[in-house]
Amino acid sequence: MDLQTPVGEVSRAYKMFRGRLEKLGIVKLEDFLFHVPFRYDDYSLVSKIAQLQAGETVTVKGTVEEISNLYTRRWKTLQRATVRDETGTIDILWFNQPFLTKAIKKGDLISLSGKVDLDKHKLIMIAPDYEIVFNNQTIHTGRLVPVYSETRGISSKWLRRQIFKLLEEKNQLKEFLPNELLQKNELMNLSDAIEKIHFPNNLAEAEKARERLAFDELFEIQLASLIRKKAWEKNTIKNPWQEFTGKTEELIKTLPFELTNAQKRSVNEILNDLSSQKPMNRLLEGEVGSGKTVVGAIAMYVAFLNGFQSAFMAPTEILAQQHYVTISKLLFPFGIRVQLFTSSTKAKKNHESRIMNQEPFDVAIGTHSLVYKKVQFKKLGLVIIDEQQRFGVEQRTIIKEKGRNVHLLTMTATPIPRTVALAMYGDLDLSLLDEMPVGRKLVKTWLVPPEKRSGAYTWIEKQIAENADQVFIVCPFIEESETMLTVKAATKEFERLKKEVFPNLKLGLLHGKMKAAEKEIILKTFRDQKIDILVSTPVVEVGIDIPNATIMLIEEADRFGLAQLHQLRGRVGRSDKQSYCLLFTSSKNEATVERLKALETIYSGAQLAELDLKLRGPGQIYGTSQHGRQVLKVASFSDFALIDKTKKEAEKIFPELEKYPQLLEKTREINLSHVSPD
Ligand code: ADP
Ligand code: MG
Repeated sequence: MDLQTPVGEVSRAYKMFRGRLEKLGIVKLEDFLFHVPFRYDDYSLVSKIAQLQAGETVTVKGTVEEISNLYTRRWKTLQRATVRDETGTIDILWFNQPFLTKAIKKGDLISLSGKVDLDKHKLIMIAPDYEIVFNNQTIHTGRLVPVYSETRGISSKWLRRQIFKLLEEKNQLKEFLPNELLQKNELMNLSDAIEKIHFPNNLAEAEKARERLAFDELFEIQLASLIRKKAWEKNTIKNPWQEFTGKTEELIKTLPFELTNAQKRSVNEILNDLSSQKPMNRLLEGEVGSGKTVVGAIAMYVAFLNGFQSAFMAPTEILAQQHYVTISKLLFPFGIRVQLFTSSTKAKKNHESRIMNQEPFDVAIGTHSLVYKKVQFKKLGLVIIDEQQRFGVEQRTIIKEKGRNVHLLTMTATPIPRTVALAMYGDLDLSLLDEMPVGRKLVKTWLVPPEKRSGAYTWIEKQIAENADQVFIVCPFIEESETMLTVKAATKEFERLKKEVFPNLKLGLLHGKMKAAEKEIILKTFRDQKIDILVSTPVVEVGIDIPNATIMLIEEADRFGLAQLHQLRGRVGRSDKQSYCLLFTSSKNEATVERLKALETIYSGAQLAELDLKLRGPGQIYGTSQHGRQVLKVASFSDFALIDKTKKEAEKIFPELEKYPQLLEKTREINLSHVSPD
């Protein structure tokens, strides 16, 4: 069977599972082999029945003497078997698996892995993993057994069987790394690595396999970055833009504040890029509240002065609306037409008609709806992507294709440590806003013990009464994203707070399932200080700017990563008033409490991200974007040594890629965009 076959074409059964498999990233047969286990169950200790001891986890092989269904209670069934080897017999119990009596027959040679228990002085195995032994070979028992990430209806056991079968085709996996490179770095060859990562003989072998696959992942990212860089350098702009330094100075003078030095430096770097012959490809990285928006706005002014349109993309409608308000306020006096595009149905109608009318605009602000074909740019020159980590890659690619040689500015508060950013995305230029506007105070942060909850509520009420403070109360995601469950939980908490805790205050509710117009109204009411407390789902996480809000209370804080909590905390502390962040958790886990306490003393997003990286692994920061696949499955962005090594190897081999046809072919397959923040 060709490993490149799409799973849907393999069999009817596979076809039915196609959607679920896709969730796991399995689209063609080969992808099964690259679905690597995240751990192993150690069932490698095989024991004779007479030697079994209660409490140990072992594998037993023997013949089935008897198996039957025992019906106990109404909804529950019980399966019992007796298994014999040359030294004795043992009883086995399973629950609610009535099909077992069909799958396992008297006389079968069976292998069982699990824990041995004691039942009234007799040894017994309860609900062990099992398999019938063919050709003296086992895959689910009697060895290190791979455990995979699963999804509904797709179990590890099923995956294991498919993968085992497909490994017969492992010769189709072509080695693409040159021999010298393999030898020098003591790497396993590809097909062995794939086999051993699934079915290793021992943990050392699994580790060796993992090393090879981790090397591949990082090496490919490095190569992709070099290829992008080379491609980018080919673009030249015939008529470079003018800087218009005097005019931007005028705009800056109208701001109600002085730009920080970091902002000035970044503006200069951007203006330099914009007036050069190469399209800009810059990442503006800055702490929450460091003032990225205004830097972007200045860049859009320069685009306008040069006769080009700009597109400004935000990850949520709320944020797009907010940007629309601040940016049009700033740019309108300079004759710039700013237009908002969102995807919410009501708004869409308006915009569609506006688009049909071809109402001209200079700056388009919106969510992903900006990438829909319907928004027609006549002369797009600059694309700004706010909170770029929130966007799927496809959208970034599409919007760039809307104009030729567009300048690209991505902005993020996700603190990719500088070392990692430079090593991984060598093709990007980096501007750092490493300085906060003057007068900002650190947000005082406490992890509040459960018994002090009502005290905290009283304190909040007092703050509101005495200082006219405004408060965010953030309820957690119940599932991984904003689903009805999450919304319901927030609604319930809102009702509770309104009735039982703060009956004398004005409360508002904000969640992602509300219509855009409703959200807008709520936020406006909050901004106008007609609401004291805004209860919300984590939709406020990104970017919202309401300077009078000074208290942030976060429920079930343990469900968030530190970097995310830091983002949430960044919603307050946006003026010169003292702000506070109160964290609640119902977790008693010591490590969790320690982790959360880090927020009491650490105020650097980068440091918190590094800490998260150490405590929770890379997926939490870089990896699983809401939109797609995990960037790294095997390797880790905290493995600086391997990042370094793969970078060196990639740089060495890049100039002579043509010499290595397999590698060259591989680089063509690498999805160049999926590893890049642009
Ligand atoms: P972020 O970098 O998190 O996107 P914003 O651009 O939303 O930050 O800016 C946060 C707030 O700080 C806004 O209210 C903005 O007007 C204000 N701000 C930006 N730059 C300065 C500055 N140099 N001095 C004072 N306030 C500033
Ligand atoms: Mg922002």
